[in-house]
Amino acid sequence: MKYGTFVPIKRAPTENLLLAALSAEDRRRLLGDCVASDLRLDETLSYSDDRIRHVYFPIDGFISLITPGIGRAQLEIGLVGNEGMLGVPLLLGINVSPLRALVQGAGHAWRIDAAHFLRVIESHATIRVALNRYLYVFLAQLMQTATCTRFHLVEARLARWLLMTRDRANSSQFHITHEFLAYMLGVRRVGVTSAASALQRRNLIRYRRGDIAILDVRGLERTACSCYAIDKKIYGRVLGKGRRSRQNAGRESGAIRLAAQIAGAISC
Ligand SMILES: [Zn+2]
Repeated sequence: MKYGTFVPIKRAPTENLLLAALSAEDRRRLLGDCVASDLRLDETLSYSDDRIRHVYFPIDGFISLITPGIGRAQLEIGLVGNEGMLGVPLLLGINVSPLRALVQGAGHAWRIDAAHFLRVIESHATIRVALNRYLYVFLAQLMQTATCTRFHLVEARLARWLLMTRDRANSSQFHITHEFLAYMLGVRRVGVTSAASALQRRNLIRYRRGDIAILDVRGLERTACSCYAIDKKIYGRVLGKGRRSRQNAGRESGAIRLAAQIAGAISC
């Protein structure tokens, strides 16, 4: 099945926030066996029920997590960008993923062999504890998505999705089709057309032949359902900058060096 295309028009090289939150020593342990990997648009990194062979820490691309199903019975229930990681079942000792992982924003990621990842988290509690905090955030977001899909209006859900995507793409401009948006939101195309037109009439977005530009972030935040703010609040509380800065005072030089490495797209 073709999902459509999604191409951030501009990207800002950055770092993976989970890795940046680790101490320099723990980061070296975890990345000791890593590869700088391209995330190619429309690439399926793993299908549901596949054995997990690699863990991905996105740097400047992002990945949709999609429930298994046929045709329209598929639904995106999560997005993983540089705030997270792909491969969380390993943190629970499970080596199979229940979801399909599809690249929706081309970019780069650190890729770690699953066996190395398991060895490191089993022998280094500080890394395991740090990543378990992300697991909590991830599960909270899945639960929020279930509520969102059941109770919230398409227009508000579309606004939420555009903001989530903007955060992960580091861009306010995307190329995306109605068909793809319909899959992401689990609604018919006509529903997406109506919601996108409403946002455009209010000058919150511009949508032309698949090119979306977010014109008014604050206005879109006011339009989005409460799920967007709840997700951000949970992330901030569990993994946010304030917490990281308190824990990692003095460690930032390592994070900055890592960011420089990433920007240079070098191998580790
Ligand atoms: Zn919602």
